Amino acid sequence: MLTHLDIPIEYLKGVGTKRAEILKKELNLFTFYDLLQYYPYKYVDKSKFYRIAEIKNYPNTYIQIKGYIKDMNIIGQHKGKRLVAHFQDETGSIQLVWFNNIKYIQDSLRRNTLYIVFGKPVLFNNSLNITHPEIRTESEENIQVTIPFQPFYNTSEKMKKNGLDSKGISRLSYQLLSEIKGKIPENLPPYILEKLNLINRQTAFINIHFPQTQQLLKQATDRLKFEEMFFLQLSLLQSHIGNIKNNKGYLMPRVGKLFHEFYSHYLPFPLTNAQKRVIKEIRSDFISGYQMNRLLQGDVGSGKTITAVLLMLIAIDNGFQCCLMAPTEILASQHYSGISKLLEKMDIQVELLTGSTKASKRKILLPDIENGNVKIIIGTHALAEDTVLFQKLGFVVIDEQHRFGVEQRAKLWKKSLSPPHVLVMTATPIPRTLAMTVYGDLDISIIDQLPVGRKPIITSHFYQKDSGKIIHFLKEEIKKGRQVYVVFPLIQESETMDFRNLMEGYEAFKMDFPEPYYKISCVHGKLNAEEKDNEMQKFINKETQIMLATTVIEVGIDVPNASVMVIENAERFGLSQLHQLRGRVGRGADQSYCILLSDVKLSADSRKRIEAMVETNNGFEIADYDLKLRGPGDITGTRQSGMLDFKLINIIHDEKIITTCRNIANSILSEDPELKNPKNTLLRDYLFYMKKKQTNYYQIG
Ligand code: ADP
Ligand code: MG
Repeated sequence: MLTHLDIPIEYLKGVGTKRAEILKKELNLFTFYDLLQYYPYKYVDKSKFYRIAEIKNYPNTYIQIKGYIKDMNIIGQHKGKRLVAHFQDETGSIQLVWFNNIKYIQDSLRRNTLYIVFGKPVLFNNSLNITHPEIRTESEENIQVTIPFQPFYNTSEKMKKNGLDSKGISRLSYQLLSEIKGKIPENLPPYILEKLNLINRQTAFINIHFPQTQQLLKQATDRLKFEEMFFLQLSLLQSHIGNIKNNKGYLMPRVGKLFHEFYSHYLPFPLTNAQKRVIKEIRSDFISGYQMNRLLQGDVGSGKTITAVLLMLIAIDNGFQCCLMAPTEILASQHYSGISKLLEKMDIQVELLTGSTKASKRKILLPDIENGNVKIIIGTHALAEDTVLFQKLGFVVIDEQHRFGVEQRAKLWKKSLSPPHVLVMTATPIPRTLAMTVYGDLDISIIDQLPVGRKPIITSHFYQKDSGKIIHFLKEEIKKGRQVYVVFPLIQESETMDFRNLMEGYEAFKMDFPEPYYKISCVHGKLNAEEKDNEMQKFINKETQIMLATTVIEVGIDVPNASVMVIENAERFGLSQLHQLRGRVGRGADQSYCILLSDVKLSADSRKRIEAMVETNNGFEIADYDLKLRGPGDITGTRQSGMLDFKLINIIHDEKIITTCRNIANSILSEDPELKNPKNTLLRDYLFYMKKKQTNYYQIG
């Protein structure tokens, strides 16, 4: 279904081959449609006139004045050669300056003629100046006259040299709009336009480039924002529904003996309401007949593990095996000992399989998994190896998802007849709007509540020079029987430097905390897995009171007796990383502390991060801050993929629109999943068109 919009850009009057090349290279604009969607970044109201005397109140803004040229002269030499005109109205005067085409301009300008001047005044040598202003008489006909708002487009140096400055682009947009007027196909059916009170597509495109009024500009923006997000949601949800329908899922209807036994005898604490709700949500997936693909978000310490364990018991009650995959050996073995302990009084075989599991152990373990004796197998990516076969794998839990690739997950799926239900757990909360977009094809559950009785962690900021105070404080805590983490930053440039940094810190600490009174574990990137495990284990067993580490302890480690987290050079850490580290304490009943140490000199960004940490313990609030500081692509790791390259939508500010789009897409698809209903034909056609366009791009790339 080719339309006028797919015509290559070189065929637009005023473009031609050379400019087309530049538009392709600089802006990725290939077709009429691409140019149509190249929107202005701002507009200047040209219905308004200023008096010269009041201009100084509006520094660096575009303004429009009316007046006469008093005199003009060419002055300066060589590159400094310029035409300077004194322009005045009844309130004052201002200089207009041109560096290019001076002769021509001088000849075309007359004294005693009323001119309208448009441009951006700047203060230069104590007088106001407009360089290269737009100047015309009141009667002069050009597009600028007919438009009350002047659009401004981003351009590059290279474009400017080829007549493609902001004004040049606006001329092309104007040309384009007059050529395709009446030929811009609508892509939203009337019932949606009416329901949401959206203006039609043609009016929207015209007014986003050349708004007639402020109100029309807003309506145009709203309409095009809606369209941008709505079709994305429609396509994400449609593929989600498609996945579900294509993947029959195991049925797990029974909540049986094991679940009840554990729940009534061995559950160490009452569940939070959020944990209960999530279990219910997932239960309904277990009985839906479709395969589950769900993301479980929950702040650090919100209790995702026990939630997963309860669900595993349901799966086992229904005759299935489960596995839990963690990103590191340390985490896997921690999960293993934690879960084994939870289930120790029950008749369930739990095993651990990682890269360092000995061959002799594997020999016994692998057949035991294959014949179905092992009900819960915990491990690292070693679980995905081909030698690991299951009898009936029904439920897969993946902890800290961002470390695993999609392929690794897919490998696990293939290990059973039907794909197992998959729950991906992440402690990096991302704002809901972002989740709806980046994980739009997964279902999402959120544990948005911490267990009761937790004392909020007290976070404070100190400068390195306060270390005496801090040493004293740590000693007091250790005296009470608590344990302490001290974390040093990874300096990306050099592993040797990280190591040195840590070792220097280590030596200094040993002086302040001498043996045999104090015992220190030290974990860093130069240790092998076994050595690391050893050091960690000593800390977990309370043989050591202080754990010195680079960021290797970031994820997941659970030592409830540890009550202080000291972060050295906190200014070098990202916000979500700081929050993850802080989450290592505050896991027991004791008051916990997070101490952020930094240099006295801080960049504005570092200061904001540290302030955010001191201000809130809430992971979702932290995520919001982070989003504002870093942008969505960096947070989700999708920056390269272009998934979040929106033209109009702002993932932070357009929450309402995003939610509306999601809800409407959802309700349309639940009624008409394949968009076969005639009233949805426009939607189906446009989705098809969009997808085809995408595949074309992939083929080119
Ligand atoms: P995360 O969600 O970060 O993985 P964990 O599952 O490691 O958190 O749980 C953190 C700590 O909170 C663990 O020590 C766990 O036993 C405990 N916990 C989990 N749920 C509850 C609850 N409902 N009440 C009290 N403590 C809980
Ligand atoms: Mg965890």
